[in-house]
Amino acid sequence: MPICPECGGEMLYQQSIRRYVCKSCGISLTRDEIDEIKAKYRVCKDEDEKERMKKEYIKWWTTKK
Ligand SMILES: [Zn+2]
Repeated sequence: MPICPECGGEMLYQQSIRRYVCKSCGISLTRDEIDEIKAKYRVCKDEDEKERMKKEYIKWWTTKK
């Protein structure tokens, strides 16, 4: 069962519309859309992580002296 990329809720497959519908926020997405959003989100998260690491490194560098 896919997890909602918007809110992290459970998504149920709706046969009638052939889409996954989130139980929490009500968003409806196709499997492809879910994968696409997740892929983008992962890139975003990695960028944030990189940015955070960079900041920590700079902090470590500046406090070292
Ligand atoms: Zn949701």
